[in-house]
Amino acid sequence: MTLPDPAGPRCFCRDCLADLDIGGRRCSACGSPRLVRHRTLASLTIAHVDCDAFYATVEKRDNPDIADKPVIIGGGKRGVVSAACYIARTYGVRSAMPMFRALEACPHATVIPPDMAKYVRVGREVRQAMQALTPLVEPLSIDEAFLDLSGTERVHGMIPAKVLARFARNVERDVGISVSVGLSCNKFLAKIASDLDKPRGFAALDQDEARIMLAEKPVGFIFGVGPATQERLLQRGFRIIADLQKADEIELMRQFPSDGRRLWRLARGIDDRRVEPDRGAKTISSETTFETDISDFASLEKILWRLCERTSSRLKSSEVAGSTVTLKLKTADFRQRTRSQSIAAPTQLATKIFSICREMLAKEIDGTAFRLMGAGVSALRDGSPADDTDMLDRRAAHAERAVDSLRKKFGSAAVIRGIAYDGPEKAQESPRPARLQSPSKMSAPG
Ligand SMILES: [Mg+2]
Repeated sequence: MTLPDPAGPRCFCRDCLADLDIGGRRCSACGSPRLVRHRTLASLTIAHVDCDAFYATVEKRDNPDIADKPVIIGGGKRGVVSAACYIARTYGVRSAMPMFRALEACPHATVIPPDMAKYVRVGREVRQAMQALTPLVEPLSIDEAFLDLSGTERVHGMIPAKVLARFARNVERDVGISVSVGLSCNKFLAKIASDLDKPRGFAALDQDEARIMLAEKPVGFIFGVGPATQERLLQRGFRIIADLQKADEIELMRQFPSDGRRLWRLARGIDDRRVEPDRGAKTISSETTFETDISDFASLEKILWRLCERTSSRLKSSEVAGSTVTLKLKTADFRQRTRSQSIAAPTQLATKIFSICREMLAKEIDGTAFRLMGAGVSALRDGSPADDTDMLDRRAAHAERAVDSLRKKFGSAAVIRGIAYDGPEKAQESPRPARLQSPSKMSAPG
């Protein structure tokens, strides 16, 4: 044990949370080798928490017989790997790999079909434990989130690093799965840090270290820099992040007007984005899982219309309208695609929601088989003045309200509109009712 450092502890034990001398190799209190050490530890408050090989870890928790075996989640009708445990990964098994290839690489792996309902439940438990630490939790997917712990030291009686170490320990004990924590001064660096020490990791990273670490990485390492941007950068001689670090800010902004400033800053590990909890920001949506996967536009379009009608009627009965329309698709191999479009004035009209979603859907048709589709509206506000802005909308609103009132009187089958009419409802679809959900549910699992 050491005397308290006025700048806060620089080294502590992840198991017993004792403060330690920065030079030690094991905890002098409990003997654990799992120490966190960092010279500016007490000043780092933004974390990225990521569950380790989430689906596979949950399955191992529930069946100790496979704890030390290579486990692959996937298979069944869907021929790709949804997740692989760390043992399976040592054989080269990766997410999204075709199942037959994965089994070539690791023939003795235990294959388990995904149980999404279970993973959602476990993900929610972890999320709740995060929310007990700070209200500033921004979920990125079912198994990862950003946390902002600034200003919480008083409440918790310890620095954020220790709060997070205790959280990770408690999740292992109470939920039975492991997480990795990345701690830094902003979201970009926290996300990098959580990947440095996986699984059961804890890595702290400050801006000076990040600048050095980033230097040798390719520019594509920066989030949002896809192949097209990478190519543009390469043409101007920016191959690795060090090239961006050396560039002059104004010059970079001149060469890349839309993202030059952002690239210059991120290359230096500067990121001002806030951790945004999805407080109150609700989405009204409906979604449905198909009984068999669908890839053709005509079939998807019909189902989409019904989803939009459901979402619309839900918006109307809640007396709200929204100005962001989101189409959600899940591919046969559980990859999620969400496409959103914002419109000038909020809407609650099925026809309008449909026309926007339909356009987004058309762009996703590339032979991919989909297992699920959803249509949602967010950025909600009071619905009464909605859809009265221009003539066309006004007319469509009139027509739709007339249909709505007929349905209210005679039941929903009384009026069947447009594309929905193709005979009796097919067995293809197993509809789930429209419901309120947070936008976080519309992001992809990691
Ligand atoms: Mg994960």
